[in-house]
Amino acid sequence: MDRLAPRIGRLIGRSIGRSIGRSIDWIQPPLCLGCRRTSHRGIDRFNLCPACRGGLRALTGPRCPGCLAPLADPAALDGRPCAACRRRPPACDRLFAGWLYAPPLREVVHGLKFHRLDYLAAALGGDLARRFAPVLDDCGAVVPVPLHWARALARGYNQAELVARELADPAARPLVRALRRRAATRPQTGLSRPRRRANLAGAFRWRGRPLAGGAPHWLLVDDVLTTGATLESAARTLKRAGVGRVTALVVAITPHPEERGARRPPPALPWWRTPRRE
Ligand SMILES: [Zn+2]
Ligand SMILES: [Zn+2]
Repeated sequence: MDRLAPRIGRLIGRSIGRSIGRSIDWIQPPLCLGCRRTSHRGIDRFNLCPACRGGLRALTGPRCPGCLAPLADPAALDGRPCAACRRRPPACDRLFAGWLYAPPLREVVHGLKFHRLDYLAAALGGDLARRFAPVLDDCGAVVPVPLHWARALARGYNQAELVARELADPAARPLVRALRRRAATRPQTGLSRPRRRANLAGAFRWRGRPLAGGAPHWLLVDDVLTTGATLESAARTLKRAGVGRVTALVVAITPHPEERGARRPPPALPWWRTPRRE
């Protein structure tokens, strides 16, 4: 009974919680993360209403294969990287991103990172797995960019790893936790690009035994790419350990200044309307 009691307690608690949740849904349907409104047309797996789902911005137009910067004159480059990437070639051989990091996708990523809506990883990762299936097929393993253990403990999970799992499983590729974050680096927010690089230099360490004979091509997965300093440092660590080619796939990339929209972020959610997980 000592062991059963807490289990039964949890079960009863959960079922009461679910009934209350359903009653609240019945009285007031769930909110869209994008516009914070209820929708009678339903909320999808991204926790978005149909109107907001239509507002997700995929990357369009010709872009640099190294940093995804939009190219003004693609003919002049003929598929080669932009000037900045030629001057300083990135450690990732290719970079792909699911969406631009702008509302309403930004609110979905915030939900995943800061509101414990871990089920959103399945929606985001599932969509990416379908769209980037050929990239996945070419990679031998999927590696998530790790969080420092203290941050992972506080959050309860690493959002990049949850997304990476959704990519690795359908492609039948192993998910390899090959990297470890060495120190709790200072938050990157507010730092300039060179300072971010300096802050993250040597931030990752190869975990476990060295690769015997190397690995031809791995996929590195992260949630949001801002300056690329995190991916750069992680990819360098993989290459030093013997991974031949590294392709990076991120859920979203910060838009370049010329493609930033004027959309204002939605109002903050009141505490009693935080989307609830089933
Ligand atoms: Zn909406
Ligand atoms: Zn570039």
